[in-house]
Amino acid sequence: MLVEKSKQQNRFLLLYGTATGQAKAICEEIAEKAPSFGLFADLFELDDIGKKFNFEKEKCVVIVTSTTGDGDPPPNAEKFMRRIKKRVLSSTYLAHLHYALLGLGDSNYSNFCRCGRDMDARLEALGAHKLYPPGFADDGVGLEIVADPWLKDLYPALQKFLGIHPTTQEPVTETVPCKSHSKANKETDIEGPPEKSFEKLTLSAAGKDGTDGATPNRESKIPVSVIQNSDSLTSNGKSTEKADLVSDSAQDKEKSINVSETSTSIFENGAEGDSHQKEEEDRAEISTDKQTKDPSGAILTDTSAAGANIIRASNRQQVHCSNGACVWSETLCELMRDISQVATIDSSPVLTSNPALSDKDLTVPVLPPAYLDISFCDSSLKLPSLSYQNSCKLPSAASEVFNVAITEAKVLTAVGAVKKTLLLQLSLEGTGIKYSPGDSLSVICPNSSSEVDLLIHRLNLEDVADQAMTLTVKQDTKKRRAAVPAHIHPCNSTLRYVLTTCVSIRDPPSKALIRALVEYTKEDNEIRRLQELCSKEGTQDYTRCLRQSHVSLLDFLCAFPSCLPPVETILEHLPRLQPRPYSACSCQDATPDHLDIVFNLVKVEANPAEGRYYHRRGVCTGWLNDITAPLQRGDKVEEAIQIPVFVRTNQHFRPPADLNQPLIMIGPGTGVAPFIGFLEERRIARQQLEEARNSYGETWLYFGCRNREKDYLFRDRLAEFEKDSTLTQLRVTFSRDICAEEENATGSCSETSISSDGCPPRYVQDQMRRDCADLARLLTEKDALVYVCGDAKNMAADVAAAFEEVLQLEKGMSKDDAHMFIMKKRIHKTYLEDVWL
Ligand code: FAD
Ligand code: NAP
Repeated sequence: MLVEKSKQQNRFLLLYGTATGQAKAICEEIAEKAPSFGLFADLFELDDIGKKFNFEKEKCVVIVTSTTGDGDPPPNAEKFMRRIKKRVLSSTYLAHLHYALLGLGDSNYSNFCRCGRDMDARLEALGAHKLYPPGFADDGVGLEIVADPWLKDLYPALQKFLGIHPTTQEPVTETVPCKSHSKANKETDIEGPPEKSFEKLTLSAAGKDGTDGATPNRESKIPVSVIQNSDSLTSNGKSTEKADLVSDSAQDKEKSINVSETSTSIFENGAEGDSHQKEEEDRAEISTDKQTKDPSGAILTDTSAAGANIIRASNRQQVHCSNGACVWSETLCELMRDISQVATIDSSPVLTSNPALSDKDLTVPVLPPAYLDISFCDSSLKLPSLSYQNSCKLPSAASEVFNVAITEAKVLTAVGAVKKTLLLQLSLEGTGIKYSPGDSLSVICPNSSSEVDLLIHRLNLEDVADQAMTLTVKQDTKKRRAAVPAHIHPCNSTLRYVLTTCVSIRDPPSKALIRALVEYTKEDNEIRRLQELCSKEGTQDYTRCLRQSHVSLLDFLCAFPSCLPPVETILEHLPRLQPRPYSACSCQDATPDHLDIVFNLVKVEANPAEGRYYHRRGVCTGWLNDITAPLQRGDKVEEAIQIPVFVRTNQHFRPPADLNQPLIMIGPGTGVAPFIGFLEERRIARQQLEEARNSYGETWLYFGCRNREKDYLFRDRLAEFEKDSTLTQLRVTFSRDICAEEENATGSCSETSISSDGCPPRYVQDQMRRDCADLARLLTEKDALVYVCGDAKNMAADVAAAFEEVLQLEKGMSKDDAHMFIMKKRIHKTYLEDVWL
């Protein structure tokens, strides 16, 4: 949107680079708040450069950008980066420009905020001036820690630069006195002007009196029988209606998935037990998981997945709610926390106020202005074919969305393995999909239908969940630029559909949502705790109790039984449900008809002591596991099981065209996936090029798993690659095979080496240290390409540290020099990571 001419004086350019929408959301917030400071923003994507804005003519720019992949710019910032990186540009090219930059990243990745940092360095190198220091916010610990103060200082900095008098409407903080102080004065306390980012409470906001409109307006009464009898969730009432709707609406059989309606219990026994028992439970899950169809019938056609396995309800009625007025907790809370007789809701860190906090005055964000209205039509809706997420642009999509058939689903791990690994073979027939090894396929997945059901129960919306829903912008909203979120259908859909396919319900509630929930909470102690969790002072508590504990919205509402928000508030705040990418584990030249992906089934145990009240599985991996259950059992399926996917390319993480180039691949666990494709491609190229046989670069693979007999993925294929010399060296480590002699007696021993103490190496990096002479030679003499794939949290950093140690040991480099050596390789894209949490 372009700022009117009359406001040009106070105008600045606001640019974002985003992959998941976070940077965009922050920019929208900046643009919205700016007018209250007498400022006006023109908001664009970074890649609109040259089209919608002329960088050479701008004098004041604010940039918010994330980082993706291996420290790369997000998809809508690539062109911008290329432009500013042009070598012909002089050191005064941007001397006219002043800028402020906020980088978003995650310190679990080695290239933390790389795009933001590179952009900042490059703008400075081109002569641009900083309005004030850049911020680099870390999603690993909470973006708000850096982002909030950075944003707070932004407006005064812009005012100063543009010569605007500081407004009297500068943000003020709301101070909530410590717990021991008195009652709220809602009128003054809560309803600060919407343009403020924080509000000041002069009196306590510890409670509300129920007449001020803040009282929950719906009473949630959930009959115990509904919860205790899983059948009533899965095979009667709304769920059946939903299934019926699907068969009515899914006219286009080509586009729909046909999985059998074998609805069974979503209530599983608790997640206790040893790994063997768990494995058996896994196997049991395969045959019992609920499978239903999604109402859309268009792209996303299956909402099965008993991803949330709620702990079985017992007859015990030992509800220890934090207050006497639990509206719904006597049923759902009881059910969820029944994993342990010891743990009670009171013990949840989510609910328990940290003494250091309860003794403090709190600075809480101002109430975000409500902006959505929702209305329901009084009859069930037969859903038409809906475009996925209202046709909102998909992140990192390098192709259109295709429904591909799953032709095979193989469990790669043995009974008793710590994790269950699945390989899915996806048919490419008729799709025209083109991909290269290193690319991945993003799977569009729904939320677990049982979790959605429970959320609908919890919000007391069962009566309207399947009615035609219309979302509009509140006429009197104080939110500027208010719009129905682009990824939600404004009409012709249902609440169940939106909660299933459009929004992420697993993420911990944001601080802004928690702030909004205060308004719909009845009990004083819950209000106070909500205020603590969204306050500046409660940042550590928020990170520890919600983010690190992976508390979902449902867990959260369970912990705050007197909170009953309207669903439009929830929809205003929930982030978009994201597709999940999986590395192609095949090579199109070798198998043109199908693409393979491999993944571990993510399982997260319930643990009331950590604020998680129900056992759940990964949104996508849980769903894929469920819908492929018949294939895993080897059953014949009458109609193809299809999933919506799109290609996500990776320009750097791909095998070199030059076969002579040596490479070192490191991929423990499912991190080996892309290397299967790499090796297939190299094998074919080598066979085709006679001369290449003589000049084939050394090709090393480090693979790590837990047990040789349980999770040695692709064991036979890797052995074949070694046998035909596609792999020069195969190194495999077994982290949990304890007895060295015994294991190595059964293994081929070419895979791993034993140290002088007779112990085999535990992890890939331990094996790397034992190969230090070869690795140092490959790095320093042959400029070998290094590829690391898999876990970002620990493995990637440990592997980089091992390379640095190798260089120190073998080449006598100092610690700093070794670090610089690897850093340079990263910059030159000869050390590449494709890692994820
Ligand atoms: P989600 O519902 O998203 O849950 C995962 C989250 O659960 C984790 O982020 C973590 O926060 C949390 N969690 C995990 N374990 C625990 C625990 N014990 N306790 C509490 N919380 C926990 N994955 C593969 O398996 N194979 C691949 O080939 C692959 N390729 C990828 C390629 C790219 C380019 C990218 C970006 C990612 C890739 N991933 C791959 C990761 C994959 O996209 C998903 O993130 C992963 O499968 C989990 O998805 P999910 O929806 O099942 O889990
Ligand atoms: P995993 O099964 O959890 O672990 C594989 C092996 O790595 C185990 O033997 C494990 O040992 C070991 N390990 C644990 N910590 C390690 C460390 N610090 N250094 C080296 N090895 C270590 O692995 P996974 O779940 O398959 O994969 C990990 C992650 O990679 C997943 O989150 C997945 O989503 C992601 N992934 C990303 C991509 C991509 O971005 N392209 C591709 C594939 C997978 P112990 O358990 O005995 O400690």
